[in-house]
Amino acid sequence: MKEELLHYVWRTKKFDTRQLKTTRGEPIQIESFGTYHQNAGPDFEYGRVRIADELWIGHIEMHLNSSDWYKHRHDTDPAYNNVILHVVWEHDMDVQRSDGTTIPTLILKPHTPAALTYNYQYLQASETWVPCQKMLFSISDIQKIGWLESLAIERMIYRHQQFEAKMNVNVSDVESTFYQAIARGFGMKVNADSFEQLTQKVPYELIRKYADNLITLEALLFGQAGLLPPKKSSDAYVRKLQIEYAFLKSKHQLQAMSIAHWKFSRMRPANFPTLRIAQMAALYHKVSRPFSALSEFRSLKEMTKILEVQSSEYWNTHYHFDMIAPGSKRSIGKTAIHLVLINSILPFFIYYGHVRHIADLKEKALSILEEIPSEDNQLIREWKFLDINPGSALDSQALIQLKKFYCDSRRCLQCAWGSQIMNK
Ligand code: SF4
Repeated sequence: MKEELLHYVWRTKKFDTRQLKTTRGEPIQIESFGTYHQNAGPDFEYGRVRIADELWIGHIEMHLNSSDWYKHRHDTDPAYNNVILHVVWEHDMDVQRSDGTTIPTLILKPHTPAALTYNYQYLQASETWVPCQKMLFSISDIQKIGWLESLAIERMIYRHQQFEAKMNVNVSDVESTFYQAIARGFGMKVNADSFEQLTQKVPYELIRKYADNLITLEALLFGQAGLLPPKKSSDAYVRKLQIEYAFLKSKHQLQAMSIAHWKFSRMRPANFPTLRIAQMAALYHKVSRPFSALSEFRSLKEMTKILEVQSSEYWNTHYHFDMIAPGSKRSIGKTAIHLVLINSILPFFIYYGHVRHIADLKEKALSILEEIPSEDNQLIREWKFLDINPGSALDSQALIQLKKFYCDSRRCLQCAWGSQIMNK
């Protein structure tokens, strides 16, 4: 049992408010439950409670046991002098304010429906992948859809904070920030941080400066990534990159990353960072200002066309430097394009449209997220196994948010589905 259950029962008024009495037998009438407060200080501020016909206005504090009042040292804290009601689950002692007056106490447990307490304890103790998975059938489709819509917006707001922090560092330079966002997308989940680090090593100004020349862009990115072979290569293309990078390194006083930052193991070769870097270089060679180009889009088809890039010929027969692979054109695939759109480009447009009040940009990005099919990863497959089937990328983003930010930390009392389950 946790104190959060008392807060939930009180703020949602899910208890029998008739015939409430203090531990001393005085009748209690609640006129206002107060404002829930999650920071330091009393739990509910400015409640209105009538005790034995006398109206009290002030704060309401909650504890599992009355004695927690002393454990938390509220008896010496002036912030608690205005507490008018102590609401507890178990009463083990009377408690007093710092001026020595006793605080009226209400025991909530006997007034709380037994099913609600049972369901809460069940969700907290369940060890299944999603704690409520055996109860999900009881949630209606309308309830499921409504919560997924809220979660999708919440996920976008979460991304806003990340973009906003980067915009501040980049002094609101939108193409630089977009470049960092796109790089994370090209890194996929496994190499996203390394790609972002690469953008620090190769700032957008350098990308723009050399955008006309693909070999220079590739030399810059591969060299700064620390991925170029250190020994003189016999392959003409690799040798060209080595010579070009040596020149750029000395000209711009560059310091490369360590190769140890890059992950290749347990990964499909098509997702190797070498191929993704080559494709990112090809994208910036094709459009040096992708934010401007992509934000003009009118459809998913148009955006896809911009992102369909073909890397240098060497990468048609290699997955890595000196690692020959069966030849076929290694342009970026549709699934990878969708992932870059879902994880980087569209959330960035939603953010930018929101902060710059460009409603059209934001709405177009949201509608494209609804058009792109759901992601297909382990987490989404687990949800599908539970018969929760996302219809679009917007839904799959919502399910990622739900699992990572609610289920995994058992925030069932803050979850709309949890609220439905609790009250069954
Ligand atoms: S957070 Fe919601 S979906 Fe997740 S286990 Fe709890 S009730 Fe279920």
